[in-house]
Amino acid sequence: MFLLIALALGVALVVALQKLRDYRRAIRGLAQSVTGKQPFLREDQPAKLGSDWDRLCAEIGTLITENTHLHQLRSSHLAQLEATLGSLQEAVLIVNDSNQIILANRALQAIFPRAPNILKQRLELVLHSREFLTYVEAVRTSRAAAQQELEFVEGIHSTWVEVTGALIPPLDGGKGAWILFVLHDITKQKKLEGVRKDFVANVSHELRTPLTMIKGYVETLVDGHRDMPLADRERFLTTIQRHTDRLNSLLDDLLALSRLESINPGLRRESCDLSHLVAGLIDDFRGRPSAVDHHLDFSIDPAIGRLLIDPLKITQVFENLIENALKYTPKGSHIEISARLREHEVEASVRDNGPGIPAEDLPHIFERFYRVEKGRSREKGGTGLGLSIVKHIVQLHGGRVWVESTLGQGTAFFFSIPVRSSA
Ligand code: ADP
Repeated sequence: MFLLIALALGVALVVALQKLRDYRRAIRGLAQSVTGKQPFLREDQPAKLGSDWDRLCAEIGTLITENTHLHQLRSSHLAQLEATLGSLQEAVLIVNDSNQIILANRALQAIFPRAPNILKQRLELVLHSREFLTYVEAVRTSRAAAQQELEFVEGIHSTWVEVTGALIPPLDGGKGAWILFVLHDITKQKKLEGVRKDFVANVSHELRTPLTMIKGYVETLVDGHRDMPLADRERFLTTIQRHTDRLNSLLDDLLALSRLESINPGLRRESCDLSHLVAGLIDDFRGRPSAVDHHLDFSIDPAIGRLLIDPLKITQVFENLIENALKYTPKGSHIEISARLREHEVEASVRDNGPGIPAEDLPHIFERFYRVEKGRSREKGGTGLGLSIVKHIVQLHGGRVWVESTLGQGTAFFFSIPVRSSA
């Protein structure tokens, strides 16, 4: 009897242990399915664990399936969003509630090429701008302006963007709102704005000086011309004339420059013999009072032949360069104009043996209104626009300009234009 009971207990224990092992294995399997380590398959679950266990498995199975579905839906939403935003011209950036970058389209990467692999990174580590982070906070607390202009500085590079931010519901089902930013690159406009402001300021300044002088002298003449000695009156009138001439040249140069910069700069190419053009120009200069104390020479390589250029504009290039050489070199200086063929280009130069230009001024010499010695240039009737006009004309011909100069030895201005020979 005792033996029977012991045997029955032993069998019951073995069955219970077996069941326990089955439960543990089943629970382990469920746990792995819940954490996504293996798919949930009902067939994998032991069949003999009872109806309660079956119900539990069925519920968990449904939950896992729903969860997987939601997961897929969210990923596909994000993928759809990425695809849609990727093709947009506007740069788009989405960050989550802890400023982690969730999405950045192609246009955004084009604005910030120096910030690669920005996905999943924190905003502040990628886009360095304190103002931007302040703006992000303002968007989060709904205090932000509709649009804001911001500057991002990366070493020597500066990028200006116009940014609009809006709160959006989190696509990961979390609680904290995400932010969608639309950014517009306005660096070019900002630069142009700066150039325009500088230009207007420079023009106003250039106009004001002669106008103030003219006004002053005219007022003195109006008030006192009756008792004024004739010599003084003549001196005053000559000064007025000089400043009027200056105003005139300034307006001429401004008009020339604005025409050259317009959509239709009016380049009229025609077949032209460069050597003939330069010879005529030198003849003309030799007859001018400003050139009588200088030595003017020229040498044009006969191999150049006829070129397709705008003769009036190229004449203006040579004129501006020769006039500068005459203005900025002392009496008795030598000025040499030459041109030679170099592969597919004609390279021309105007060289003088004057005082030269300091090295620090050379990179700016072709900028509008840039002068090495402001007083001296004005005194010589310079507008500060001559070399700018030269550069524009040469560029219109598809060429380039440059300068070489050594203090105390002289200056050489070069320009080269691609050969477009005419038959
Ligand atoms: P500007 O009307 O003042 O002559 P430009 O644009 O023609 O204006 O020239 C810019 C500046 O470059 C001049 O003000 C002058 O200081 C300098 N420069 C130009 N040519 C020479 C030269 N041959 N030798 C020395 N300085 C020169």
